[in-house]
Amino acid sequence: MKVEFEGMEGFHRLKSLWKIEYRMVFMEPFLTRGVSDELVEGIGNLIHRRLPKDAVPLVMGDRAVLTGNAVKGVFRHIISAQLTQAGVDVCFQKVKVSPGASQRIEEMGRVNACQPDNPCFVCAWFGTSGRQGALHFSFLKSTKSINEILVGEPIPMVALAEDLNALVAKKGRGAFALLAPVKENTEFRGWITGENLSMEILGAIKEIADMSEKGFVRFGGLKTRGFGSARIEILKIEKFNAAPFKLEKSYEGSELKSFLEACQRKYHLLLSRGRKP
Ligand SMILES: [Zn+2]
Repeated sequence: MKVEFEGMEGFHRLKSLWKIEYRMVFMEPFLTRGVSDELVEGIGNLIHRRLPKDAVPLVMGDRAVLTGNAVKGVFRHIISAQLTQAGVDVCFQKVKVSPGASQRIEEMGRVNACQPDNPCFVCAWFGTSGRQGALHFSFLKSTKSINEILVGEPIPMVALAEDLNALVAKKGRGAFALLAPVKENTEFRGWITGENLSMEILGAIKEIADMSEKGFVRFGGLKTRGFGSARIEILKIEKFNAAPFKLEKSYEGSELKSFLEACQRKYHLLLSRGRKP
């Protein structure tokens, strides 16, 4: 059902600016995709192995990184799916699905992509085609250098097409692939900036952090093989007045905790409105 949510205070009017600093600690090995030949060779040299492409983490300088876009996609997906389950109408992004599968998505209560002038909760904050969202996700960088966080011994794994295309066994070669992920307990740091954020969307972000504590939030490749779950911890939130630009409030420690809990209550109220007949 169509549910009212706290909208942005006008897309063209900048009232408040937000910076959310967070850390992500992986509970499982983590691997990103799409890297250059030089990088594969470089990492192979670090662990004295020849590795296939797509088997090593993305690196910038001497740090493993995770793109902001990857994080944004996971956040968007979880919030969309949760709102759908709660009976709050949100659109789904067009994906390649068979006619049968597409029907199932419709039945679950999702609707087609939003118009820019009338966005659903998810499009309002994450953007839609033709309209930029209000949330921006930074690169996440490992706090330690790549040679400290790479697994010591590459992980052999039976290659499957759906996991990593490049790992599919080549003719005349074994079906095993060697993977060199970042090891568990690796910490990454980054931030999210936002414009005119509501308590509801801040509460939704807190909700994801809570889910992540139990291992339900995953990033990178090989998720089905026990890779990529990470604990997200929000460290600090700063709220800035936009005109003139100045820090209005910085939340940390117990103050941050109670602020996030208040935001989460607002988000839970939004979820509960979806169930009303
Ligand atoms: Zn939408």
